[in-house]
Amino acid sequence: MKNFFKIYKYKILIGLIVLGLIVAIPFSFQNSEAIENYSTYKLNLVFNEEEMSLSGKEEVTYVNNSQNAFSSLYFHLYPNAFREGANVKVVSSNNFDEAFPNGASYGNIEIENVYNEFGNLQFQITGDDLNILKVDLLEDLYPDETVEIKIDFTVVLPNANHRFGYGESTINLGNFYPIACVYEDGKGFFTKPYHSNGDPFYSDVANYIVNLTCSNDLIVASSGEVCDKIEEGQSSVYSMKGDKIRDFCIVLSNNFEKVSTEIDGIKINYYGYKNDSDLQENLDFSKDCLQTYNSLFGKYPYKELNIVKSNFVHGGMEWPNLVMISDNISNSEDFKYVIAHEIAHQWWYGVVGNNQYDHAWIDEGLTEYSTYLFYQNNPEYGLNYEEMIKNASENYKFFVKIYNQVNGEVDTSMDRALNEFKTEPEYVQLTYTKGVLLFDSLRQNMGDRKFFKALKNFYENYKFQNVSPEILIASFSASAGNNLENFIYSWINGEVVIM
Ligand SMILES: [Zn+2]
Repeated sequence: MKNFFKIYKYKILIGLIVLGLIVAIPFSFQNSEAIENYSTYKLNLVFNEEEMSLSGKEEVTYVNNSQNAFSSLYFHLYPNAFREGANVKVVSSNNFDEAFPNGASYGNIEIENVYNEFGNLQFQITGDDLNILKVDLLEDLYPDETVEIKIDFTVVLPNANHRFGYGESTINLGNFYPIACVYEDGKGFFTKPYHSNGDPFYSDVANYIVNLTCSNDLIVASSGEVCDKIEEGQSSVYSMKGDKIRDFCIVLSNNFEKVSTEIDGIKINYYGYKNDSDLQENLDFSKDCLQTYNSLFGKYPYKELNIVKSNFVHGGMEWPNLVMISDNISNSEDFKYVIAHEIAHQWWYGVVGNNQYDHAWIDEGLTEYSTYLFYQNNPEYGLNYEEMIKNASENYKFFVKIYNQVNGEVDTSMDRALNEFKTEPEYVQLTYTKGVLLFDSLRQNMGDRKFFKALKNFYENYKFQNVSPEILIASFSASAGNNLENFIYSWINGEVVIM
């Protein structure tokens, strides 16, 4: 996600002092264990535009890629965060009016049946905030075994400019279906509820086959490739598929206008609104982003990328093969900045995943830093890398100063769960801004040749997986040829003082 804030363009000299010695001790490189057998989601969806609801039949072929046996499986029910009476907030109070311009509105997910070919399965709606579907298996599922689970559900959308909700121009179906919780060895299933800070999502890569029936007047943008479209009276049935993606998002609108191009064999679609004058400009910019990141990090592994303008309270949001860019950004340079950020997420979140709830600095830090790299490599867009770093540093120092003045102290540790940041600005400064400063500092420490090799190695070795901070540190250390553990921990633990 990109919580958009102004890029300040003043120049101030800064010094960056890193406290904490870098001790060259031997390190071990954690080898990646590539998963060959992915789970599959088959979704049959019927969208009812009058009721703003969606009925779904989901068939999950779940593969146990862990080392443990399971007697139950767990699925996130993110739409329940939007229900009336939810404990969690889907937006912070200062964003409420923008997210809900017509006042409070609610949505939810109802689970109707859970079963498979052997009969009905016992299930429970549980979690801290009715955010989890627990399904008891008929027999234990051992490592490498597969089980099929069918879930019938209905979701109701709130009138909200949010990831999940409908607004003036678009219907956003983000995080709308039951998706399996990630199992972490030694920790169990990750079942934390929604949070208004950041992107409270975490999932494994899977294969998707999705059929959607909706009214003919709606144009569909999604995380999948459209394989077929059949018109049946007033409705259309879309058949879509996505291989090795970690989520599936759909955006619908009768106000879309699509322009397309191709680069490096990848089709890029930009969905703006009818009569927009900047369709081609934003498409060309998106193409430059994809080309730059392909050459900096390694090639985007999918056939399509969709950049989708939508009514969304925050600046932008990423899903595999699809990014939402908020229609409330009026300045064209700012709009492009968000495109550059969200497209970079395809590498950091989409392909190389991480626990976005507990370690948001990994994907947001790398993504925001990649955005800076985009501008460094494309000077025609008018942002200067050195100036951007100086401004990030100034912003960060200003935040530390103000927080110290107001609270008498400031916690500058980065590796915190979303609910452990006290405010949204604290989350943004420590995850995005300090994330940028961390990766810039790491680049200075390693030198350009090793740093860019490290990004490529990290992408290549961990694609389609989830990484932890330990894996990131081991991977960059291996590329650097020395142990970066103390260096990186001094940043994320808050020991580094930026002056
Ligand atoms: Zn982001």
